[in-house]
Amino acid sequence: MLIGIIEDDKLLNHALELALGKEGYHTVCARTGKEARRLLGRGEDLLVIDIGLPDGNGIGLYQDLRRTYNVPALFLTARDEESDMLRAFEEGAQDYVVKPFSMKVLLKRIEVVLNRNMGGKVIKCGVLSLHPERNQVFSDGKEVILTAKEYQLLEYFMRNQNQVLTKENILENVWGVDGEFVVDNTVSVTVNRLRKKIEANAKQPVYIRNVFGIGYRMGE
Ligand code: CA
Repeated sequence: MLIGIIEDDKLLNHALELALGKEGYHTVCARTGKEARRLLGRGEDLLVIDIGLPDGNGIGLYQDLRRTYNVPALFLTARDEESDMLRAFEEGAQDYVVKPFSMKVLLKRIEVVLNRNMGGKVIKCGVLSLHPERNQVFSDGKEVILTAKEYQLLEYFMRNQNQVLTKENILENVWGVDGEFVVDNTVSVTVNRLRKKIEANAKQPVYIRNVFGIGYRMGE
């Protein structure tokens, strides 16, 4: 995930870079609109834009950037700039926070915006691709036919690649409230069925691996 940061306050810019980096995001940082126009536009998944930039208004900058690529934005605003936010929303802003803000809150909002925008985006892992808007999965271009549960399980794994997911995480997110009533080996049985469909060799899985005693991790 690549996030563009456009903020002229040097300390804040750096703090954002560090905090986002810690969460596993890649960042590209700019301090002015001019710098942003030069550095951004390389497939960022989200922009965090300060409204008050030294060489113009962050909303105007966003209008310009959106002409070249479609990217969601979250704005940072000072309290007296709040009226600008109405305009920002008209321009397609997804959210905003008022300075000074808590980094934790900002990170949460970033996560929400990203999840919202990921809704229809194709998710990839190796030769596997999952198309959420069509509920379809392809392996090397060939469709893989999955049951509804297998699909939901795979989608959960693919949206959380490289994270260790416990059986409890999986039950809660894939089976939801029904999770309380499923039999003990439901997760492992469904994982194994899924492996038979997506792995070249289900006995030596390369996509969904066991993390001994903890759960599973999906990655290449
Ligand atoms: Ca500023």
